[in-house]
Formats: sequence, C-alpha cells, structure tokens
Amino acid sequence: MNLEPGTWNSTSPSSLLLDQPLVILDVETTGAHPAYDRITEVGLIEVERGRCIGEWSTLVNPGESIPPAIQGLTGITNEMVALAPSFAEIAPRLLARLEGKLLVAHNARFDYGLLRNEFRRAGLRYSSRVLCTVKLSRRLFPAETRHNLDALMARHDVACDARHRALGDARAVWLLVSQWRRELYPAVLAAAVERLLKAPAVPAGLPEGALDEVPEAPGVYLFHGENDVALYVGKSINLRARVMAHFAGDHRDSRDMKIAQQVKRIDWIETAGELGALIEEARLVKALAPVHNRRLRRTNELCAWRWRAEGEKGARPADKTKSHSRDSALGGGTPRLVSARELDPAQLGDLYGLFRSRSAALEALRGLAAEHELCPIMLGLEKGRGPCFAYQIKRCRGACAGKESRAVHGLRLGQALARLKMRPWPFKGRVGVREAGDAGEQLIVLDRWCYLGTVRSEAELHEWTERRLQPVFDLDTYRILSRFLSSSRQNYTVVELAT
Ligand SMILES: [Zn+2]
Repeated sequence: MNLEPGTWNSTSPSSLLLDQPLVILDVETTGAHPAYDRITEVGLIEVERGRCIGEWSTLVNPGESIPPAIQGLTGITNEMVALAPSFAEIAPRLLARLEGKLLVAHNARFDYGLLRNEFRRAGLRYSSRVLCTVKLSRRLFPAETRHNLDALMARHDVACDARHRALGDARAVWLLVSQWRRELYPAVLAAAVERLLKAPAVPAGLPEGALDEVPEAPGVYLFHGENDVALYVGKSINLRARVMAHFAGDHRDSRDMKIAQQVKRIDWIETAGELGALIEEARLVKALAPVHNRRLRRTNELCAWRWRAEGEKGARPADKTKSHSRDSALGGGTPRLVSARELDPAQLGDLYGLFRSRSAALEALRGLAAEHELCPIMLGLEKGRGPCFAYQIKRCRGACAGKESRAVHGLRLGQALARLKMRPWPFKGRVGVREAGDAGEQLIVLDRWCYLGTVRSEAELHEWTERRLQPVFDLDTYRILSRFLSSSRQNYTVVELAT
C-alpha cells in the first residue's frame, strides 16, 4: 500500500457509511410501548449510493383495537386496518427488504424494538445495525435542545405532506438526511455517523447473536467465565444497551477488556423497574462475589456515631447512664460508637455515619473536630481533663477550659455532624414500592430501610406478611433506598402495608 503524502484517499470508509444500502423506516403503532404495542403501519424508503430507489408502505392489522387518542394522532382507524394483512403476513416480504441494510429511523430504538418483537411473534429473527437520526442530530447540532421530528423539520426547512403516517414520516427523515448531506462537511457527517455506528464486537467466547437476545428492559445482568465463574454483575434500565457498552470498541477500561476476554455466557433477570434492579444487583454482588466487581465490604465492621443534642425529645435513658458519658445534661454528651449489628433500623434519627470501620469513624470525627475547632476531649477522642492540647495551639475554642459553654459546643457539634445524619425511615412502617415495566408489575417490600423481598401478587404478599420477616439492616440497601426515595423519580408508587 502506498502511503506517500498526497496519495491518501480522502474517502475513508466512514464517509461512505451513508452510501451503503439504507432503509429509512417509520412505523405507526397502537401505543408507545415496544413490548406490548403493535404495529399498524410500516413505511420505508430504500436508498442506495445516496439515492432513493424505492418506497414501500402498508397498513397492518394489529389484531387489537387502536386507542382513540392514537387514532386521532395518526388518522389510522380500526376500520382502516380491519382488512389489512397482519404483521405475520407481511413479515417475509418486509424482512427481504430490510436484510443486510442499515436501518435508519427517528428515535430508532422504538421502531427497531417494535420490529424485532413483531418479527419474533411471526417466528422470524431480525437483527440489524441501526442509525438513529435523533442521536445523529444531537451529535451534529449539540447546541440545540430539541431534536424531535417537528423541531428538525422546522429548523432544516423540510416539509411533510403526511405527518404521523409511516411513509410520510419516513420521507421527512430521508429529506432531513439528504439536507444534512448537502449542508455539512462530509467529514463532519461521516465522523458523527461512524461514532454512532461503532458496533460492539461480540466477544470471542460468546456465541454469535448472544448480545441480540438481551432485552431492552430494566434488570441485572451477569457475565460468566470459564467453569461458570461469576465475572461481573451489573444493572441497567436498558440491559441490552448496557451489556453492549461493555464490548463497544475502544476498551479504554481495562476491566471491560478483561471481561470481554473471559466471558462465556450472559445471564440476566428482568425487573419491573430501576429499584428492583438496584436491589437485585446488590444482592447478587454479595451472594456471588464476582471477580470484577469491587471487593465486598466487610459489613460486620460497619459502625455509626450515636449522639443526641441536648433537650431533644426521647433521649434514651440508657445513654444517660453510660459511665463514659461525661455530660449528658448539657451539650448532648459524648458521641458513642455503635456497630451496625446493634442498630435498630427504626431509630436512625440520632445516628451519624455509616462508616466502614472503627478507624474510619474516628478519623471522620477527628476531621470534624479540626475543621470546626471542637474539643477532642469533649468528643471523647482524647482522655484527661482540660484544657486540651488543641486549645493550647488555638485549635479548640475551649469548651474544655471553660471558655465556651457546653451548650454552645453541643450546638456546634450538631451543626458539624449534620451532613452525616442518617435519615429516619420516612414511613409509618412496612411499605411496598410498586414498579411496572415489560416484566410486569412488582411490589418491592421494604421495612425501615431494609429489603424484605419482591412479590408479584396479592397472594404472595399475604404469604409474606404471615411469615413476619425481621428486617436486617444492610448498608448497601440503606444507601440505595435513601437515594432512590429522595430522588424526584415519578415512575413508582409507594403503598403503606399493614405490619
Ligand atoms: Zn479542648
């Protein structure tokens, strides 16, 4: 090969990506759910070497009623599809048009997901490389915030005579892509397309097509290596995309490179939603200790500081009588280290932490003392009577030397500890978090930051209640739940359950 300057071919394979055979496709449906909803119309444009060589479109009988709102949007009515062929009837012809071509669609994940499901129902397998024009637009015009079809048509001056019909929308997408080819530097367009098409290589140890089987649904996945050893557990709201990402090209991540070399099998569990996936992941990481997950925490060393400000309601008599409690009447006393095993999940309000070990807890408290000029003797970090060494070097404001009242010291300690405060359980008692997704509906049963289990029916729930499981505190679950329940997610509901 001649690599002299000037002999470089400016047409890198990537700039030819849009010259390969393309099918620009759009489908109309009975709804927005790729797993449940059905196709009512397919429209496609066949493109070769940048030229349209044919159009094809057909109505499809979805085998179920089209909701009125969707009929209103698309104009496709139950009467119109009543005599149309079913998807199974058009499937072989459609597959012949799609096979071996790059599928281009606006919000392609939706169209591709629906197509794959419909083909699967018809007993056929369809798998293709996919180019999404929403993603392409985002990459080409990152400063723009809106990339829906109407916004793009307005911005790039593209008209559509049959918006929300399959062929009409496919034509609009084709005009859009043609417009970009004219407007943009070929190298810019080519780089964006190449980046989006960077296909993940199927690892050598996996059978061909193994990645195609992974669903686009929330859940956990598990990579197995030689002799079925657990390599890695991960979770995602889109299993397929996340699993593919492990094997996508550059392997800048050395862990992903090792996984790609070692993986022999992929397993997954679909969950109804994100919380189910988070909890299942934590459970599997603990149970299987996969090679490439972070080393498990030794949870038996977990501990927290217990401290209650002066005058707070419900101060525990037990704390007041502790001999090492120097002063429980004023300033709230000395913080006491408690291990996670002693924790009562119902009483997290006066706890600060958690810490992975005793020394981590001590270090954190020392750090707070230094930062806030608190007295190490008052905190129980140093023995003896005041004034403390820190006071002598002006790092303590002198609660130990009568220079600061214990009440003020206690107030400042409370402020210093505030960001470590553990959240009290925000419900009366046992609750269920209801998530719904492709995998059906699940009720995740929780009690005072503890995970009790997942049920799928009333009967199952009843059985559980009968068994009266005791909550066992677990740091990972606490963290997952406190983050999840305080976020602004809307796709779950909480039901209070009888205890
Ligand atoms: Zn001091």
